[in-house]
Amino acid sequence: MESVKSIETATTALATHPTGKLDISREKSAALYEKAKTYFPGGVNSPVRAFRSVYGTPLFIVKGDGCHIWDADGNKFIDFCCSWGPLILGHNNTQIREKVTETMQNGMSFGAPTALENELAELILSHNKYIEKLRFVSSGTEAVMSAIRLARGYTKRDKILKFEGCYHGHVDSLLVKAGSGLVTFGETSSAGVPKSFADETIVVPLNDLKAVKLAFEEFKDQIAAVIIEPVPANNGLLLQEKEFLQQLREICTVKEALLIFDEVISGFRLGFEGAAGYYQIQPDIITYGKIIGGGLPVGAYGSSAEIMSNISPEGAVYQAGTLSGNPVAMSAGIAQLSELAKPGFYIGLNQKTKKFTDEIEQYSEEKNYGMKVFRIGSIFWFAFTGLENIRRADEIDPKSMEKFKLFHRKLLNRGVYIGPSGYEVGFISSAHTENDLEKAKKAIFESLDFVFHQQTDASFTG
Ligand code: PLP
Repeated sequence: MESVKSIETATTALATHPTGKLDISREKSAALYEKAKTYFPGGVNSPVRAFRSVYGTPLFIVKGDGCHIWDADGNKFIDFCCSWGPLILGHNNTQIREKVTETMQNGMSFGAPTALENELAELILSHNKYIEKLRFVSSGTEAVMSAIRLARGYTKRDKILKFEGCYHGHVDSLLVKAGSGLVTFGETSSAGVPKSFADETIVVPLNDLKAVKLAFEEFKDQIAAVIIEPVPANNGLLLQEKEFLQQLREICTVKEALLIFDEVISGFRLGFEGAAGYYQIQPDIITYGKIIGGGLPVGAYGSSAEIMSNISPEGAVYQAGTLSGNPVAMSAGIAQLSELAKPGFYIGLNQKTKKFTDEIEQYSEEKNYGMKVFRIGSIFWFAFTGLENIRRADEIDPKSMEKFKLFHRKLLNRGVYIGPSGYEVGFISSAHTENDLEKAKKAIFESLDFVFHQQTDASFTG
């Protein structure tokens, strides 16, 4: 009885959205969401999934295969979210599934070393000249948290410098946003983070070397590490110039602070060596997540053998994990990274993405729509800001998100799934075929037409 009422409430809510006729059916997803709200805060286990920034209720996914996903109502979508990045080979990849299934025949977890950890480490380290040793953890957040502790333990300093617009997981000391001055202590961006933690974090704008230098002057010999997403991809795609990243490298070397590249998104995405390899810059510590685990929960941090020797049990910096190096997760990572290590993998993927985004951008330009597609490798971002270049978070006009919201809804109606926030990037996998991308492009063109014409053509509701 209760669930029938829930369905009615949810369906009515959807039908009364202001922009046109009833969308794709979401009855079953809506009912599941109503139920989920009784179990989880906001009905979800990670906030952005709640569709708070877009129309309607979240879609509950029942299946994924290749570049497609299906929701509980039987709607099929071409997926550009790819589980927020990990699925670079697409959904339900055969090699990963078979390797994981084979491993599971022998049990799920031992809390003791297995050869699979060696195998994944060997695969990574033999193809990545930027790290000599690593430690597996179970998420990107854990990787960053541990990297920061390592930097503090190694340098014997406390402060961390981060950039406004970079996200590093829900680590206390990094849930901090810029204060009012150019170089200030950060202010917590989440309730529950003590002010004293935020006081250890300095936040400066991206692409602003002057602010970085000022911070090093003001907090002389106190900064343990500068942490950056070398490809900032959590607040739009704020591509930085190589020179800026190089200058960060230089200033960290001179000031004896560590440079941490948070490559949870860019790692194994821009190339096997991630952004470090792409820009040919040697950071001191690199963090990984997402792709490294082939869709299962794996993170890692890596550095030189010398710096890593500070981690327990070798050194004094404590870090541990019950499920770290879990054999099933290691297997998924091995299967996925083995494919990525094959010659030509990234060339094909990046070319395919470039063609796709170039054509969308060209369409938008010809029609004089204020939408630009930013891209690097197989990561892209639809920006409705009308700007040619965006390198800082504060350059994104929040009002541009209204257009994204409509775009998102129109895309879902046309069978294309992108992340439910205009600040999120999209990903292309090796499973997206030319044919899929052609179909998606058509849906994107039609949705753009709607977004940019709706004020003048009231009958245009599709
Ligand atoms: N660092 C970056 C750059 C990320 O994009 C994310 C997550 O999106 C994280 C860290 C946190 O990773 P996780 O969500 O696996 O904890």
